[in-house]
Amino acid sequence: MPNRRSAGSTVGGPADAKGCNRPDGHEQRLASRARLVLSCSCAYMILAIVSSHGWPDEHAMADIWLPSGLSDALALRVGYWAVPVPLLGTLLSNLGRQSYDLQQAVVVGLGHSCGTALVAVLAPRWMRGRDLFASIGNLFGFLAAAAVCALASTLIASLVLPELRNWTQDGQALSWWAGNLAGTVVMAPPLLSWVGRNCGTRLRELRRLEFWLLLLASVAMGVIVHLGLVQVFSLRPATGILPLSLWAGFRFSPAAATPITAGLAIWMAGLGNPSDQRLQVNNSVQALELLEITVIITLITSLMVLVVNANRTRTNRQLQQLAGSLERTVVERTEQLEAANAQLQRLSDTDGLTGITNRRRFDALLRERWRTATRAGSSLAVAMLDIDHFKAYNDHYGHQAGDRCLQQVAAALAAEIRRGSDCVARYGGEEFVVLWCGLTLDQASAMAERLLQRVTALALPHASSPSGPIVSLSIGVAARQLQSQATAPLIEEVESEIAALLQQADARLYAAKTAGRNRVVSR
Ligand code: GH3
Ligand code: MG
Ligand code: MG
Repeated sequence: MPNRRSAGSTVGGPADAKGCNRPDGHEQRLASRARLVLSCSCAYMILAIVSSHGWPDEHAMADIWLPSGLSDALALRVGYWAVPVPLLGTLLSNLGRQSYDLQQAVVVGLGHSCGTALVAVLAPRWMRGRDLFASIGNLFGFLAAAAVCALASTLIASLVLPELRNWTQDGQALSWWAGNLAGTVVMAPPLLSWVGRNCGTRLRELRRLEFWLLLLASVAMGVIVHLGLVQVFSLRPATGILPLSLWAGFRFSPAAATPITAGLAIWMAGLGNPSDQRLQVNNSVQALELLEITVIITLITSLMVLVVNANRTRTNRQLQQLAGSLERTVVERTEQLEAANAQLQRLSDTDGLTGITNRRRFDALLRERWRTATRAGSSLAVAMLDIDHFKAYNDHYGHQAGDRCLQQVAAALAAEIRRGSDCVARYGGEEFVVLWCGLTLDQASAMAERLLQRVTALALPHASSPSGPIVSLSIGVAARQLQSQATAPLIEEVESEIAALLQQADARLYAAKTAGRNRVVSR
């Protein structure tokens, strides 16, 4: 039976949502799918020829039907688009070899195509997603679909190949079915590992010395088997696969391990055997031997899936831990940054000596309050305050005492400012400025008097002041009643009005100085 095959098996496989389930009138897409079908049909033909005639001795081939791996993998990737491939591939491969007459070739090819269609239907139902290596369940779901569908293609082929109706020991039906399944087990994992996201690591694997050592060991194993040395150790050819396949499965990603395992399987089943012992799958016993290889490869691939998934889980866990700690660090850093920014803002708004608002912040605040008062049509009042004879104070008590005096005066002034909208600031040197929102000139004047009393109440001695024995202030007050406007006033207008207000307060401060200091002037 083996040599008379012309087309590969096919077994179950999921439909590709992009390829078939979604209506797509796109011509480019159709063209690319057509190209895929044609190129895969050619590949199918080549694999069919290799499987049937690739061995030196025509009657000593290994009956691993490689094309079934191609069509099943294709069905998993692109769904129903894979269905024509086995029929076309069978007809193409039969052209040169004439293993079958045309009717036989058509029926055998149709059998494989029906199997491929079943793969496209069954595999998506028996797998979660289309990643063969995502879980053991996926692998076995795919292989179960392959087994069922190999059966279907065997039954259909038996319509024109009478020898396939015999499932007993001497019959070839079991070997036909087993060959198809073996082809899928051997070929589909490497093919699927070289497409999609599994292929990412393949080039990296080639850079590992261990990969080449494994390859060398695999070839050496084949040669040992071929020379018949295995008989010395009473080993069956299939047994030789086990250690090397395990090595591949545990140490390499599927992209590197599956081709090596597939190569080993083909080698052991066929070319690697001494010519008098080559696996000739002409009856059930030999088919079972082939199945033995198939089972071994399946187990190896399962182990590989386990290892890959264990690594994936571990990596995911590490990534989650890293992400968690990164998130915590980011939160911590953000909080620190916000605290630092707030501190910086406070520092940039505060006078270093007295701790009250500085002039920069006062200027900004005055403009904000001005706009608010303009919208509300309310009044705004300012007072300029200056410590009397402060130069003399410094000269008499020293600069450090002068600083302490400034701090005490500032604290006394700040204590009188109770509303959040109001503000006292150090305007420069021994001068302060106060802003009151909503006060008329008279009200502001009264408040200024209270400020003066507050500082007087401190009773800070000032021995060298001509104005009196304690520290006193001169205060000039000015106020504006702002008219509510429909539109926002021009910036230039606001600036000039603010400047005029401050200038007026300043002029009244100097009037207070001229009038003898220690007083409030508001007109
Ligand atoms: P007047 O009554 O006319 O205001 O006289 P004055 O001496 O207070 O005014 P003048 O402008 O002549 O002097 C202000 C003094 O304030 C001069 C400077 O030594 C002092 N001064 C300004 N800033 C500070 C400061 O931060 N610390 C100390 N200790 N003194 C300061
Ligand atoms: Mg001054
Ligand atoms: Mg002064």
